Amino acid sequence: MASGALVDASGLVKRFGGIRAVDGLTLSVAPGELIGLIGPNGSGKTTLINLLSGALSPDNGTIRLDGTRMNGKAAHVFAGQGVGRTFQIPRLFRRMTVLENLLAPALTRTGARGRGAIELRAAEVLAFLHLGALAQNEARALSGGQQKLLELGRAMMLEPRVLLLDEPFAGVHPKLLGEIVDRIKELSRRGYTIILVDHNLDAVGGLVGRLVVMARGRGIADGTPEDVLRSIDVIDAYTGA
Ligand code: ADP
Ligand code: MG
Repeated sequence: MASGALVDASGLVKRFGGIRAVDGLTLSVAPGELIGLIGPNGSGKTTLINLLSGALSPDNGTIRLDGTRMNGKAAHVFAGQGVGRTFQIPRLFRRMTVLENLLAPALTRTGARGRGAIELRAAEVLAFLHLGALAQNEARALSGGQQKLLELGRAMMLEPRVLLLDEPFAGVHPKLLGEIVDRIKELSRRGYTIILVDHNLDAVGGLVGRLVVMARGRGIADGTPEDVLRSIDVIDAYTGA
């Protein structure tokens, strides 16, 4: 285990039938780091996020959070250890309001704080994401980008230490793209540990100090964006050579 790592994954394997979606991946993320996780479609990024959030259990390898072994633990245990995640395709309650979407997961969670504290947190989150004016709108009335922001808000409700963001820019109108980038930067400044998934090499390169590249379930590069962009393996993975 890398000492001091907040997220520490070692030799992770996840199979679906004959496919090794994640195939021996090792990744260590220090507290407060903002890293980009990129790779072509089908390279295993979402599966890795599912493993790191407890949505799936690995067939092999170890996951540690702040030193605690998490293998086989349920997603709510990961959440309780401070892992928040968003989904590539937003999983909102479409006919509930923006505010209700923030409140519902926290209120149903066992051992949650009192309703007052949860409402206070929701107000903070709405203000942070500049969604206050939309609080009473139904989620289905939001634009794609606003839905991505609301997803981020849901992940923030439990005050996580780690945020796993699966393609937060996908399908977002350019007008809102800058806003989402800006909010992620601000979360990073505030000390959140963030793994930001994208399939586009250029989109995240300017945002993060460290890029991890996956191809066919493996990590093929890990370093500064400049170093990674020079790597022959990465160029091959993207051009299919
Ligand atoms: P990415 O997010 O990088 O596009 P995924 O993790 O979604 O990649 O998928 C990696 C591989 O695993 C793909 O070949 C995909 O078809 C396969 N896969 C992902 N989830 C499942 C599943 N639930 N059942 C079967 N195959 C899956
Ligand atoms: Mg994916």
